[in-house]
Amino acid sequence: MHTLLSLNFGAMVYYKTDEEVEFIRKSCLLVCDALAHVASIIRPGITAKEIDDAAETLIRDHGAHPAFKGYRGFPATLCVSINEQVVHGIPTDSIIFKDGDIVSVDCGVQWNGFFGDAAYTFPLGNVNDKVMELCRVTKTSLYKGIEQAVSGRRIGDVSFAIQNYVEKEFQYGIVRELVGHGVGRNLHEDPEVPNYGKRGKGIKLQEGLVIAIEPMVNLGKKEVVTAKDGWTVASKDRQPSAHYEHTVVVRRNKADILSNHVPIEESISRNGEVRAVSLKGAMALEPA
Ligand code: MG
Ligand code: MG
Repeated sequence: MHTLLSLNFGAMVYYKTDEEVEFIRKSCLLVCDALAHVASIIRPGITAKEIDDAAETLIRDHGAHPAFKGYRGFPATLCVSINEQVVHGIPTDSIIFKDGDIVSVDCGVQWNGFFGDAAYTFPLGNVNDKVMELCRVTKTSLYKGIEQAVSGRRIGDVSFAIQNYVEKEFQYGIVRELVGHGVGRNLHEDPEVPNYGKRGKGIKLQEGLVIAIEPMVNLGKKEVVTAKDGWTVASKDRQPSAHYEHTVVVRRNKADILSNHVPIEESISRNGEVRAVSLKGAMALEPA
């Protein structure tokens, strides 16, 4: 989930101790276990409510809390956003996945006092080539941002890397209104992490800063609208949108990625109804 972009000049940034980072990592890995479970059961014909129930059960069975449920009144464990929906879709039993859908699933947990946050977009079955490419570029842009999350760089370097890749190299629309965020004892902490911006701007990154980086990329134009439910954000031109998210801690030479997409992708490889989304080109930060 995200914070709405607000121009915040009084940022209150908390740098985490190594011990706190390990708590956040545990929460992030539980999020990824929940997403891996979703990846093993999602397919055309099942409902958004079914994956939400499965994720909630897994999280509660570990003694953790689904972070989104009840957050500002959000009613579910997962944000489930299909096709032209960008983020914050509410999973209900009237939403039945279809062949050719892309389904963005965002999950957060609170465990031992610390939050974790991650997201993944699942292409189901016969997704057209243009939309598969959107997924690959969005996922790759996440790692372009993570490459910049090292001490001495600035938030704007992360933002610029994502925007430059998505808009300059591929002419997709990067969503402005929703941004990444700090993560810790709160789901949303300072600083905001926009997916667009200028190199060298924003706060300087220091070791121990934990941020969720989460590009939301539209196949068409960048503009979005919020539905009457007050939550679901969709592209204004109704073209598909993708979303991938990691929580990372800033370190000296290379960010440490606290969440882990590998178990999600292992589940996908065993689920014949979900397409794998590969990174474009060699990325130094691709998880081992
Ligand atoms: Mg999230
Ligand atoms: Mg988030």
